[in-house]
Amino acid sequence: MSKRDYYDVLGVAKGADAEEIKKAYRKMAIKYHPDKNPGDKQAEENFKEAAEAYEVLSNAEKRRRYDQFGHAANAQSANGGGFGGGGMNMEDIFSQFGDIFGGGSPFEGFFGGGGRQGGGRRVQRGSNLRIKVRLTLEEIANGAEKKIKVNKQIVCKTCEGTGAKDRSSVQTCKTCGGQGAVRRVTNTILGQMQTTSTCPTCNGEGTTITSKCTVCHGDGVVRGEETISINIPAGVSEGMQLSMGGKGNAAPRGGVPGDLIILIEEIPHETLKRDGNNVIYDLHVNFVDAALGTSVEVPTIDGKAKIKIDPGTQGGKILRLKSKGVPEVNSYHRGDQLVHINIWTPKALSREERELLEKLQDSPNFKPSPGKNEKSFFERMKEYFE
Ligand SMILES: [Zn+2]
Ligand SMILES: [Zn+2]
Repeated sequence: MSKRDYYDVLGVAKGADAEEIKKAYRKMAIKYHPDKNPGDKQAEENFKEAAEAYEVLSNAEKRRRYDQFGHAANAQSANGGGFGGGGMNMEDIFSQFGDIFGGGSPFEGFFGGGGRQGGGRRVQRGSNLRIKVRLTLEEIANGAEKKIKVNKQIVCKTCEGTGAKDRSSVQTCKTCGGQGAVRRVTNTILGQMQTTSTCPTCNGEGTTITSKCTVCHGDGVVRGEETISINIPAGVSEGMQLSMGGKGNAAPRGGVPGDLIILIEEIPHETLKRDGNNVIYDLHVNFVDAALGTSVEVPTIDGKAKIKIDPGTQGGKILRLKSKGVPEVNSYHRGDQLVHINIWTPKALSREERELLEKLQDSPNFKPSPGKNEKSFFERMKEYFE
């Protein structure tokens, strides 16, 4: 497969300025971020492709060469440790371009992971954990506290997460002297260049373990269970994701734990239908009650409510029960319950009933004569949903 044009990859014009390129890359990176597309190989490829394009187009010199020579320009310069060879790996992307996600990004916590910059000691980060939580309409309306047993990586109790058999088994790495990084000076056509890279002996951790913990085999984490109490705010909806920092998988050897990502699922209600912050209920009234007026009980999120049907109520009328809907997340505003009135027409009639109705059939009051007060269906919808 031939390589795609970098400008096409980011979806920008050839003459795009630095800010446009940065913006386009940020959009792509968020869209194809592995956290958002777990296990999706194509998304991962797109994510890497976008990072590679950005790596070149965000660098004035590399961009100039690319504009002139195309992909061949970068293949030549790949020896210096760029991305030419096997493409970028995920870790490179996060450590090099992490700052692009700063400032209110949904992945801030992820990219902000300490200790990565400048080739210093690396702190391992546990992976994020995703769980689904199914909620009833009542739980959504009132908020819920859910205690959920989660199967995940937890800190090894035997070694307290160090991965070592005992204290004396943890030693400062001899290769990097505990720095976690090694410096290398190379001669290039541009002169001497100093590069810093992760220490290969300790993988950047700064310490090595001579004798491993027998329970976790040096990882500092083991498979286990944790009961997590999750406070779900009122007003969440299907597909929404909540994140609990530090409640994901524990990280090897005392690193930073990942986040717990909670995906909200709604359990459909038997009789009430949610529409945004409103709740819709379909009420069926027989035409006698509609003509004479009555009062009926309807279900609401908070239990039953009595409503009055005025004499002469037409089918299609919508009654509004104020603030009986679902609250907005982080707000005091609550939606309404809309009671949609349907007039029930009998499907079968006894002889007696038929005779009664036939007597009424030609009565002037039974002749439909919609007036100005009878709004059309569309007018009513407009009124209630605007
Ligand atoms: Zn252990
Ligand atoms: Zn080292």
